Amino acid sequence: MSRISSAPAQQAASILNFIGGEFVAAGSGKTFENRSPVDGCLLGLVSEAGEAEVDAAVKAARAALAGPWGALEMAERTELLYAVANEISRRFDEFLQAEVADTGKPASLARHIDIPRGAANFKIFADVVKNVPGEFFQMATPDKKGAINYAIRVPRGVIAVIAPWNLPLLLMTWKVGPALACGNTVVVKPSEETPATATLLGEVMNAVGVPKGVYNVVHGFGPGSAGELLTRHPGIDAVTFTGETRTGAAIMKAVADRVRPVSFELGGKNAGVVFADCDFDAAVEGMGRAVFANCGQVCLGTERVYVERPIFDKFVAALKAKAESLKPGRPEDAKTGLGPLISQEHRNKVLSYYDKARDEGATVVTGGGIPKMEGGLANGFWVEPTIWTGLPEDSAVVREEIFGPCCHVRPFDTEDEAVRLANDTQYGLASTVWTTNLARAHRVAAKIEVGICWVNCWFLRDLRTPFGGSKQSGIGREGGVHSLEFYTELRNVCVKL
Ligand code: NAD
Repeated sequence: MSRISSAPAQQAASILNFIGGEFVAAGSGKTFENRSPVDGCLLGLVSEAGEAEVDAAVKAARAALAGPWGALEMAERTELLYAVANEISRRFDEFLQAEVADTGKPASLARHIDIPRGAANFKIFADVVKNVPGEFFQMATPDKKGAINYAIRVPRGVIAVIAPWNLPLLLMTWKVGPALACGNTVVVKPSEETPATATLLGEVMNAVGVPKGVYNVVHGFGPGSAGELLTRHPGIDAVTFTGETRTGAAIMKAVADRVRPVSFELGGKNAGVVFADCDFDAAVEGMGRAVFANCGQVCLGTERVYVERPIFDKFVAALKAKAESLKPGRPEDAKTGLGPLISQEHRNKVLSYYDKARDEGATVVTGGGIPKMEGGLANGFWVEPTIWTGLPEDSAVVREEIFGPCCHVRPFDTEDEAVRLANDTQYGLASTVWTTNLARAHRVAAKIEVGICWVNCWFLRDLRTPFGGSKQSGIGREGGVHSLEFYTELRNVCVKL
């Protein structure tokens, strides 16, 4: 049994590790609880992998690499990845239900983003690897016979994939898709908050005939648990990680002794810059999504909004109306505009910033507390969408990533000032710029120090383009052919004729 259970408390784990094509409970019998963010009820128990399970998963991944998976032609491998995508689509409702149960996010959001993108990640990278141009040179040699020199791409080996909880299937497959397309095998450590869809994907792998050991899942926490055990395992050839910046730093230390490569997609404190010449309604709609979508739990979301002074008051009022229109509720209710935060612990963190803002004298434009919820929902991890003005730029609320449905809005007077404010952060993940002045749009986009700058839109990207963060928001770029830089190694072959 691998799937989430809605039954009340039970002793046996309902979510198991997936190792070498089998669903297995940890030998220690250790489990941890998986609770619904919507009403706090127990969804099931998850089997916590220990040293033995992590070791078995890494060994299974290595055996598959040397065995059936490594023996496949690229065309056979990519056919299997198309089959994985199709099988996810066929079992769409199961994935949707599992993702919504774990995250509490509105089902409409997961239906349009999480699950379709989870399937697409396998198709896109199967296409990418089939269309990579190679390097080939004919060389002159002193004996006039010449040589041919070319580079081939080989898989890196066993990749550790460590994933967060905010877009569980989407962000995990964003790594697993290219890793497998390039011929690697993986050991995935999903977030302890969202174990379900990674486990369900194990069933999909078996159903379509992906060889055993190619895709493995170990459940658990970070430090002292499956996450750290995996990154410290000597059988891992590379680590790809999405999560908090300080976790990235810990993982870097863990792999430093063995000098293993890392690809990091980390935290952010993203700025939105709204010029007075923007399409006002589009800017309010776009910034509203950037601040409040997924209850603010999107790495690319906006927590700092800078608005040109002539439209500042009008913009704040419109964003307030947008925030107040978002009704919290059950994920499956079509009227629900806002889900809960992922956990009690995360809610405590977000609420600590709500308190800090008030203590520092912010004007609370809207929100700032916990909404009143009826019945069982009162036990969920809800917070109000919140907007502040009036804080200094050195306030922790303006500098630190909160990862909740909230933002601080501040006026600016010149383009240079807006760019300076946007760049005054340790992070560099994403930004949005709203203007109808084309020259200004290009000028500002080039100056803001981020991995991706959106102009007059948000969360729009062709998956073939590079994705990643500058400064402390990440290391490396993934997406399209850029993923190949991490998931393959280039081998140089020189043949004397
Ligand atoms: P997190 O760093 O707390 O956890 C992410 C994963 O790392 C989890 O699976 C966790 O168990 C594991 N982990 C924690 N400590 C570890 C350790 N010492 N060794 C190995 N594994 C460890 O992040 P989160 O709370 O799950 O996710 C939210 C964070 O992710 C935010 O900071 C957000 O900005 C970031 N994020 C970034 C992107 C991006 O593309 N840049 C995308 C989504 C989320």
